[in-house]
Amino acid sequence: MTDTLTALPASVADVFETVTARNPHEPEFQQAVHEVLHSIAPVVERHPEFSDAGIVERLVEPERQIMFRVPWVDDAGQVRVNRGYRIQFSSVLGPYKGGLRFHPSVNLSIIKFLGFEQIFKNALTGQGIGGAKGGSDFDPHGRSDAEIMRFCQSFMSELYRHLGEHTDVPAGDIGVGGREIGFLFGQYRKITNRHESGMFTGKGVQWGGAEVRTEATGYGAVFFAEEMLRVRGESLAGKRVGVSGSGNVAIYAIAKARQLGAVPVTASDSSGYVVDDDGIDVDLLRQLKEVERARISEYAARRPSARFVERARPWEVAVDIAIPAATQNELDEDDARALIAGGVLAVAEGANMPSTPGAVAALQEASVLFGPGKAANAGGVATSALEMSQNASRQRWSFDDSEQKLREIIADIHGAAFDAAGRYGRPGDYVAGANIAGFERVAHAMLAQGVI
Ligand code: NDP
Repeated sequence: MTDTLTALPASVADVFETVTARNPHEPEFQQAVHEVLHSIAPVVERHPEFSDAGIVERLVEPERQIMFRVPWVDDAGQVRVNRGYRIQFSSVLGPYKGGLRFHPSVNLSIIKFLGFEQIFKNALTGQGIGGAKGGSDFDPHGRSDAEIMRFCQSFMSELYRHLGEHTDVPAGDIGVGGREIGFLFGQYRKITNRHESGMFTGKGVQWGGAEVRTEATGYGAVFFAEEMLRVRGESLAGKRVGVSGSGNVAIYAIAKARQLGAVPVTASDSSGYVVDDDGIDVDLLRQLKEVERARISEYAARRPSARFVERARPWEVAVDIAIPAATQNELDEDDARALIAGGVLAVAEGANMPSTPGAVAALQEASVLFGPGKAANAGGVATSALEMSQNASRQRWSFDDSEQKLREIIADIHGAAFDAAGRYGRPGDYVAGANIAGFERVAHAMLAQGVI
């Protein structure tokens, strides 16, 4: 994180002090808690019963934190050891729900920040799902399919005892896509001797997965941008869209932006970004990233209208709409100022917490429409909940029906955030609105269920 955190109102300052004292080496977790506390302070002040019941104090402490050893053998026969995590943050609204991330940067702070965010995001979807996150510091890049399989099997050999369709339902995230979900689900099925479809979402559509789940997070971020633009009487047609990342979220944000008449001009990975003024070629990007697992520079090598910019972020390219869809804190205050100078109208976060606090403040001060990840990328988990419903009822919905449902859910999330911001005197502030609307649902459920 590049920014210092601002002082909080007295009503929540003590809670934050406890969080920093109890979790001293966890900057991402502190950053996520700070943002939520800042937004919900007026709600806490208006509802003394929440303070009396210790709602916020309980909410910032995970219900359960699981850390475990993941030993596996690489193709050369060498034993490797990674660390696995599952943070089961809140089950007040439903079974724990949230993705698994495999990336070398994964640590307790990152998984806790993601699990904390997930509580409010999931509440915002209006579906009965709690908040969790998990993963490992395992790096899948450059690993063979056999190594990925052995790692996934070892990971699940420990985690399975904490999962189940009524207990905790993981999904994918960075480094965990269809291939990994297949291996993880297979191992769970073998160990438990149960074909329990609803214990994992993001499954292949041939074996219990839902249509549109793969596309849902990226599509949802574009739908959210569309909703925000509508409030200003604007549309996506003809707009230049800057996207970061080239993984699951980025690819389908680019695809949907193109379908709706916008021109997505950038994509990136950790080596740099490509800019293509003719519009990113979705088929080429999918071939490179989903099939060949190539670096993004290869896109420019195969596409004459594109150029590759090494070790840089795409925010220096002038666009109307920005969709950060790679990772946390990938868009800082300087990047935000570059986007503002380029005339950006809206930012919809496809990734979780991609914008630093300084970037969010700069964008909001410049009256740029800003959709936080909690709201703008909630389409993924909302569609996961639809997958759980289909698994429970053994039904299969069509692609078009599922996409229509996703669109309605995103419109509802936008409406809930917009409305909550208005009720608390912060019109158009989707950060405050999303946090408040999610918190209200969680807090009322916690109040009803007693001190547990
Ligand atoms: P993928 O693994 O499919 O793709 C991640 C992309 O981001 C890759 O292009 C990767 O590049 C890039 N990236 C990752 N870490 C970094 C980094 N430190 N610096 C620069 N680039 C980086 O992940 P997803 O698309 O699934 O997830 C992207 C974001 O969206 C994450 O924040 C995730 O939490 C969030 N999200 C995902 C959901 C989903 O349904 N998948 C749901 C809601 C949120 P490289 O290959 O070079 O590492």
